Amino acid sequence: MVQPHEPEFEQAFTELLSTLKESTLFQKRPELERLIPVISIPERVIQFRVVWENDKNELEVNRGFRVQFNSALGPYKGGLRFHPTVNLSVLKFLGYEQIFKNALTGLNMGGGKGGSDFDPKGRSDNEIRRFCYSFMAELQRHIGADTDVPAGDINVGGREIGFLFGAYKKLRNQFEGVLTGKGLDWGGSLIRPEATGYGLVYYVQEMIKYATEGKESFAGKRVAISGSGNVAQYAALKVIELGGTVVTLSDSRGSFIATGEEGFNAQEISQIADIKLRHEQLSTLENEFKGKFKYVEGSRPWAIAGKVDVALPSATQNEVSGEEAEALVKAGCKYIAEGSNMGCTLEAISVFENDRLKNAKGIWYGPGKAANAGGVAVSGLEMAQNSQRSNWTTDEVDAKLKNIMVNCFNNCVETANAYNAEDSNGLPSLVKGANIAGFVKVANAM
Ligand code: GLU
Repeated sequence: MVQPHEPEFEQAFTELLSTLKESTLFQKRPELERLIPVISIPERVIQFRVVWENDKNELEVNRGFRVQFNSALGPYKGGLRFHPTVNLSVLKFLGYEQIFKNALTGLNMGGGKGGSDFDPKGRSDNEIRRFCYSFMAELQRHIGADTDVPAGDINVGGREIGFLFGAYKKLRNQFEGVLTGKGLDWGGSLIRPEATGYGLVYYVQEMIKYATEGKESFAGKRVAISGSGNVAQYAALKVIELGGTVVTLSDSRGSFIATGEEGFNAQEISQIADIKLRHEQLSTLENEFKGKFKYVEGSRPWAIAGKVDVALPSATQNEVSGEEAEALVKAGCKYIAEGSNMGCTLEAISVFENDRLKNAKGIWYGPGKAANAGGVAVSGLEMAQNSQRSNWTTDEVDAKLKNIMVNCFNNCVETANAYNAEDSNGLPSLVKGANIAGFVKVANAM
């Protein structure tokens, strides 16, 4: 049957399948190949209408979705994204990635994703609340603590999860761990807001240790980060804590680039967090940051960041092109890991994995489904705390997160080695390792 073109989903599907086929997996386990067409179709897709009233008492309407992709390992688990670019192709790619990412955490979670084409930019708190209530009025009948547990994603943070949880409670008269990323007073977990960014940095720390045989760390490294939302902010804070210098941050309109040796400090990141909460552009801070950072309108940081050692794309999908990947190689970058889902295009991955610039020393690539798994991992820990009706301390959750990221990295390395999957630098291919390890775990369960 001919299906409508779904470019983002096809990209994610091709990326996974091509790495499995390039490896010796299907020679060693031929029975797993027949699961490819099965795993590529979501178990269930829910699409609905969200009608709500804006502050001028006018009726507005948006599309709502939940893709319940795979429940072989546990309840569907994955975030909700509110963004005008949201459509079924985007949510299918995100849900598909989520299946294998969740498997790599080692926790029992299936894969799903949802959201809406609602754009919260320029909307009041009350409008966002009314939208969330209406969105949940339909979603509530499809989710539950043991069925499907949504969380945040782009434009869905603590405030939105609060509105959604309040709506669920009212509509169902049930207080349960049906959403993660909740506030601390009502069932949330410590470290959940920080988890994706911190986890990303813990993963890259392992990459640096492995590649330098324990000789180097983040200390003294120049780090380019894109984005300025939840993932980018906490990745930046962790890099700074570990002695690295964060030389870029960006939004969809442009980038801040450090003009000298000094990078962002915690106070500047907190200023950024404030304006992001109000859905303002980064350029609002141009005057404030003048001298220390230049603001480059209309550009992502990769080709203009100057010398960097580490790149952490943490904005959105396809935010590193093939040309930008080559520019990063030329700028001396040694490590790239995705805070965003599918942050690198297939062309960029090919630069990292196959070294199109034959004479340049390449970059080691950490794919999002492994490197950014810390967010959903702590969501899994939030579910565990909710089931126990208890709360763990900051140190307990952080230690568990670190442990999950170290295990995830080791799993990628060991799996790559077991299937002779090397990149062009002679290092274990983390993308092949992650794809094989994630796929095999889910396929075995199926
Ligand atoms: N949206 C995040 C992700 O892409 C977190 C999902 C969750 O916590 O369920 O992994």
